[in-house]
Amino acid sequence: MKTKALYPGSFDCFTYGHLDIIKRALKIFDHLIIGVAKNPQKEGLFTVDERKELIRQVLAEETCVEVIIFSCLTVEKAASLKVNAIIRGLRMISDYEHEFQMALMNRSMNSTIETIYLPADEKYLYVSSSLVREICEMGGSVSSYLPPVIEKALLKKIQKKRSVK
Ligand code: ADP
Repeated sequence: MKTKALYPGSFDCFTYGHLDIIKRALKIFDHLIIGVAKNPQKEGLFTVDERKELIRQVLAEETCVEVIIFSCLTVEKAASLKVNAIIRGLRMISDYEHEFQMALMNRSMNSTIETIYLPADEKYLYVSSSLVREICEMGGSVSSYLPPVIEKALLKKIQKKRSVK
């Protein structure tokens, strides 16, 4: 039987750190569903539809990957998709506390769904979407952290935001 996992996140914007986790997860699972979480309390820079489309473009050649948008609880989505596990990436110690709490809370809501943590590559340990957005907004180069299609979209988005101000 084919195994599948759900990799949920904000992906605002999608970085090489996210891509690295996806590549690792695909060594373990046959199929990976990337779930762009829609959070009504946090609008974000890119809309969820834009994020989904951009991730699809980055992963156009990966036939075992699918990108979806979801707005319910992650465990509910994982159960409805019948995945074997939820995948999360771990960077610094600061990720642990929050991630551990989330995993335990998710398990208390649905004990059949396991969360698997994959450690980040050393190259991307310090890479986060928010930091990359900030650097780009301040005019710094972000090409080492983002796939070209994402970098292009981020620059365009920031220029647009500036012209509206
Ligand atoms: P969320 O708001 O759900 O944390 P993110 O898009 O920030 O959404 O992150 C989604 C997942 O990817 C999280 O598990 C996060 O720890 C992981 N992640 C983010 N950046 C990196 C990175 N540079 N290396 C490895 N994992 C990462």
